[in-house]
Amino acid sequence: MSAYDTNNIFAKILRGEIPSHRVYEDEATVAFMDVMPQAEGHVLVLPKAPSRNILDADPATLTSLIATVQKIAVAAKAAFDADGVTIMQFNEAPAGQSVFHLHFHVVPRREGVPLKP
Ligand code: 5GP
Repeated sequence: MSAYDTNNIFAKILRGEIPSHRVYEDEATVAFMDVMPQAEGHVLVLPKAPSRNILDADPATLTSLIATVQKIAVAAKAAFDADGVTIMQFNEAPAGQSVFHLHFHVVPRREGVPLKP
């Protein structure tokens, strides 16, 4: 597996070099809106710690991250009056990862509305 690249786009967002619509932040995690949402209310949840993906993340990072994922899932479901929430997470390019800083997708879902490709 490749090393963590400090110039990936989410590292730049975390450093404030690229703007984002931040919806949550605590000492260990950040959440912001996906720039190309697959459904209304699509949020990305990241650790501040520099993990490439789940394969190199330490357990403490994952513990705080999944707690924030749950908070965002509950909040986004309510905020967007959704019927459910899809949570996705990809590791390495062949598995669908395109930005190489660990993140979860939290996507509110409505009955009968498919995800945009
Ligand atoms: P991945 O395929 O790595 O799991 O997903 C990366 C996600 O990051 C995609 O859903 C994509 O739309 C989103 N994304 C890529 N560049 C930016 C950006 O500059 N800002 C924001 N907010 N999201 C981005």
